[in-house]
Amino acid sequence: AFRPARRIEDLGVSEILQITARASALKCAGRPVIILGAGEPDFDTPDHIKEAAIAAIRRGETKYTALDGTPELKRAIRDKFRRENGLDFAADEVTASAGAKQILYNAMMASLNEGDEVIIPTPCWTSYFDIVRISGGTPVAVPCGADSGFRLTAEALEAAITPRTRWLLLNSPSNPTGSAYGEDDYRPLIEVLERHPHVWLMVDDMYEHIVYDDFRFVTPLALAPSLKPRCLTVNGVSKAYAMTGWRLGYAGGPAPLIAGMAVVQSQSTSCPSSVTQAAAIAALDGPQDFLPARRDSFAARRNLVVDALNAIPGVTCRRPEGAFYTFASCEGLLGRITPEGQRIDSDRDFCAWLLESANVAMVPGAAFGLPGYFRISYATSEAELKEALARIATACATLD
Ligand code: PLP
Repeated sequence: AFRPARRIEDLGVSEILQITARASALKCAGRPVIILGAGEPDFDTPDHIKEAAIAAIRRGETKYTALDGTPELKRAIRDKFRRENGLDFAADEVTASAGAKQILYNAMMASLNEGDEVIIPTPCWTSYFDIVRISGGTPVAVPCGADSGFRLTAEALEAAITPRTRWLLLNSPSNPTGSAYGEDDYRPLIEVLERHPHVWLMVDDMYEHIVYDDFRFVTPLALAPSLKPRCLTVNGVSKAYAMTGWRLGYAGGPAPLIAGMAVVQSQSTSCPSSVTQAAAIAALDGPQDFLPARRDSFAARRNLVVDALNAIPGVTCRRPEGAFYTFASCEGLLGRITPEGQRIDSDRDFCAWLLESANVAMVPGAAFGLPGYFRISYATSEAELKEALARIATACATLD
C-alpha cells in the first residue's frame, strides 16, 4: 500500500477545493447551486494580454526560457515595482514563477530548516500553513479578531517572536477577510521588526489593485527601506489582470534569497511558461486603465453583499477595504435548530446546511483558522449574488 512521506502525512487537499468539488457535483446533478467559493475574478483576461501571448507563439517563443524569468520579463517586473511601489530592485533581486503560490513555496523551501518558525496572522489564506509545514517549518498562528479589523497588532507580533522566528508573513488586502493594512497599521509592526533583526518579512501583495473607497495601498518596504536585506515582496498577475489560469507570480527581494529560490525552482518546474511570460510583460507594461472600472464593479458587489449580510439577524459583517471576499460572523446563529431538526454547532455545520438546504456554497472560517465565520467570494454576477443572499436570508429565518 502507498505510504505517504512524513512531510505530507498530516496535510490534505485544501478545504476550499473540497467544498467547490462537492458543490460542483451537486450542480452537475441538476441542483441550482450558486458557488461563492472561487478565489478568482469573474472578468476575462484583457484582449491586449491575450494578443501578446498569441504573438509570442507565432514568433516561436515556445521553448525553455531563462530559469526564473526572461530578461524582458524581469525588466517589466522591476519597472512595475519602481512605478507602482517606489521600490528599486536590481536584475538579480527579482524572480518569476508559475504563480505567487510557487513564489511562496520556493521562498519557504529555500529558507526554512526543521523547527524554524513562521508567524502567520490568522485568519489567513489556507495555503500558508501547509506551505510552511511541507518546507519543514513550524507555522505560528497569531489570532487576529474582528476587533482589530483582522489585523496583526504590534503587541501580538512582539509576543509571538522567539529566537526561532524566521519570517513574519503578511497579506494585504487579505484573503479571506478583505482587510488591508494602511501606512498607520504597518508603522508599529515595522518598529517591532526593526528591534528584531533576525526576523524576515514576507509580504503577499496579490490583491494590491483591488482596493476600495479612499483606501491607499502601500507595501511595507516602501515605508521602511532599512528592511530591504530581509524583505521579500510577493505579487502576481492572477488577481489584478484576471489571469489565474496563466500561472505567473513574481517577487523582489535580497539577491541571496532570490538565488536560493531559483535552486528550488530549477529542480521542480523550471521556467514559467514562455507564452505566459510574454502575456505578463503585456499586463505589467500595458494600459492599466481598465482597472478602475473593475474595481468599481467589485466595490458595488461588496456593498451589496455586506449590506445584505448585516440585514440577517445573527450575522455581522465588516466592510472590507479590498480583495473580493467578505468574512462574516455566524456566531449569533450557533446553537439554533434547522427545520430538519439539526443543531448548527459550528461554521462548518452552517455552511454544510446552507449548501444542502439553500444551494449556496461558501467556505467556513475554520478553513482559514477562525471558526464562527464564513467567507463569501463576491467575484460573481450581481444577479447571482442577490439570489444567493436572498436564499441565505430565507434559510436563516427558518432557524429555531
Ligand atoms: N496569495 C493569496 C493571498 C491568494 O489568495 C492567492 C490565490 O488565491 C495566491 C497568493 C496565489 O496566487 P497565484 O498562485 O495564482 O499567483
